[in-house]
Amino acid sequence: MTSPLLPAKEYAILPVPRNLIALPDSTPPRQHVLWIGCSDSLVSETDCLDINRDEIFVHRNLGGRVSNGDLSSGSALEWAVDLLKVDYIVVCGHYDCEVIKHELAGKELSGWEMEVSKLDPNARRPSNILHMSSERSREQRLEETYLLHEVDWLKKEEHVQRAIRERGLIVHTFVYDKTRNECVRLVEE
Ligand SMILES: [Zn+2]
Repeated sequence: MTSPLLPAKEYAILPVPRNLIALPDSTPPRQHVLWIGCSDSLVSETDCLDINRDEIFVHRNLGGRVSNGDLSSGSALEWAVDLLKVDYIVVCGHYDCEVIKHELAGKELSGWEMEVSKLDPNARRPSNILHMSSERSREQRLEETYLLHEVDWLKKEEHVQRAIRERGLIVHTFVYDKTRNECVRLVEE
């Protein structure tokens, strides 16, 4: 049975300001940020956020997935949100991701990667493109849509939902572009 496509998204692509995540001085240092990324991304989390290594808890896996009931990512999420009480979650995908390419090449997918195939490859163009001259490739749109749906799911997860409600946890969606060595921010409209 073919899975239904997830709907397209309307979103803006914006720069990541240097002060987007302004952390207070903590002694001893505290991990204020949970970063969820893809294992084959070349991004440097601390450079992107301009924070120290002891201020961030990093979880990486194939495709940066959190929404498939995986015990490892579920435990990392619970640990960071309920025990570390992070103030921010950053879900950071990246262009040129092998998981997305695998999907676009029509190769057979197993459970871990299969969710990507539910995304709409004809996602609408973003309304506000940071680099106006750059054409959004199908692969890039798919990666962006995939991330936004991941974050939709994340915000509904019970630990995250409670932390948003009770202490103002903030969730950001980033994409790393290795050709520019920079992250951009996806903001739904
Ligand atoms: Zn990847």
